[in-house]
Amino acid sequence: MRRGGPWQARRAFLLAAAGSAALPALAQVDVGRASVARNFVSADNIERAGTQQYGELMSQAKAKGALAPPGNAQLQRLRAIAQRIIPFAAQWNPRAAQWKWEVNLVGSKQINAFCMPGGKIAFFTGILDQLKLTDDEVAMVMGHEMAHALREHARARMAKNAGTGVALSITAQLLGLGQVGDMAARAGTQLISLQFSRSDESEADLVGLELAARAGYDPRAAVSLWTKMAAASKNQGGLSFLSTHPSGPDRIRTLQANVPKVERLYREAKR
Ligand SMILES: [Zn+2]
Repeated sequence: MRRGGPWQARRAFLLAAAGSAALPALAQVDVGRASVARNFVSADNIERAGTQQYGELMSQAKAKGALAPPGNAQLQRLRAIAQRIIPFAAQWNPRAAQWKWEVNLVGSKQINAFCMPGGKIAFFTGILDQLKLTDDEVAMVMGHEMAHALREHARARMAKNAGTGVALSITAQLLGLGQVGDMAARAGTQLISLQFSRSDESEADLVGLELAARAGYDPRAAVSLWTKMAAASKNQGGLSFLSTHPSGPDRIRTLQANVPKVERLYREAKR
């Protein structure tokens, strides 16, 4: 079903790449450079904090019997999808080539997923079950969350928030596990509950769309994903994914408009 030949495709790709001033050089979506504000917080520090907080959250979940064991089919599915996307991550942030990526599944009704700085990914069973996500849609969520980490949105936000006394998050509530201790809150769990700006969100949408397309996931799934999100119950509590990721006609329209930009990447991806 490929239009043109491989030669023409290659040529169009090179022309598109040459015409783009965005980083990375090969990017098909247009998101510009990463925020300058992030330079005020060390990437090392924030990745270390992400790793520590992720470790604490996962041990809390494990203590509650809510951490999926390695043999869990849904967890294996998530890890397989991540393995396909990860090779394309370093194009967006060279540090990612050294990240020790982790993917875990937490048993919780909440519709939620995150990727902490340093490549620490968690999905909640609620997002898979309640939205009945296809692999392509999972890849869009994962790409979006990975994009936040790769574009260092947390780093930029922490830099902007520094000194303004941002309240610590209530981790246990976020996990939907009840009171499982405030250890992570004491450790300063800002990373997990950060509210990103609207421009961070649309950047994550577009970078995630491209990451997933390069990994061979159907970019049209971004549209079906956010349509499902919009239809899902808004009654998810203050820290949920739906409250930090409002899905409206604008979001869906922007994604729709960007699908053609990455369709070729999707069609040519190895599967
Ligand atoms: Zn987001």
